[in-house]
Amino acid sequence: MVPPLVLDIDGTLTTADGRIDGRVFELLPDWEAPVVFATGKAFPYPVALANFLGLPARVIAENGGVVHVDDETQILGDPTTARAVVETFLERGGDLGWGDDETVNRWRETEVALSVDADETLLREVAAAADGVEVIDTGYALHVTSPAVSKGDGLVRVADAIGVSPERFVAIGDSENDVSTFDAAGASYAVANADSAATAAADTVLAAGFMDGTAAVLDALRAGREPRA
Ligand SMILES: [Mg+2]
Repeated sequence: MVPPLVLDIDGTLTTADGRIDGRVFELLPDWEAPVVFATGKAFPYPVALANFLGLPARVIAENGGVVHVDDETQILGDPTTARAVVETFLERGGDLGWGDDETVNRWRETEVALSVDADETLLREVAAAADGVEVIDTGYALHVTSPAVSKGDGLVRVADAIGVSPERFVAIGDSENDVSTFDAAGASYAVANADSAATAAADTVLAAGFMDGTAAVLDALRAGREPRA
């Protein structure tokens, strides 16, 4: 029997150029255990992914700010401070760095995301002066978010809702926002492209990057083998 999965999306289920890897659509729809998506992306993105895979929407979005399971949505983060920090950042000449693309934050309920090309020094300076926000660099965006929420806490909530112990989950991820998931799950894998925080926290660091690494773990689990680095 395969274990339940908690999977990051960007950098983990994608190709190096950011597309969802086609193997996601081969390996996950028939996975015979719960599959949870845990992402920094806004709430609609993992819901859509689960829907298009034919899976129940069990998702942790916005780095744990939003948790959805069994048709119930929990809004756990408070965006007030994050939005105030970003307002000050903009007043001081900062730019979110998304150009005309407003979809990154349009549906984001508990945090604000900036492009990795935004002025990170200014952002961290403004954030440090505020109480109750942290800046998370996922490699895909800079997230101004509440330290009171995390993907790992989200996993505990989802696991509790579906009656499965968090320790039974296998986690795969690539960045610092996956460290809490790795801590909560029973086994954790960092893909080869993972940042130093995820690499240090994972039980196993994979030789292959992006979906190549993730698929190697899933193939092994499906075959009843212990995944190898
Ligand atoms: Mg990621």
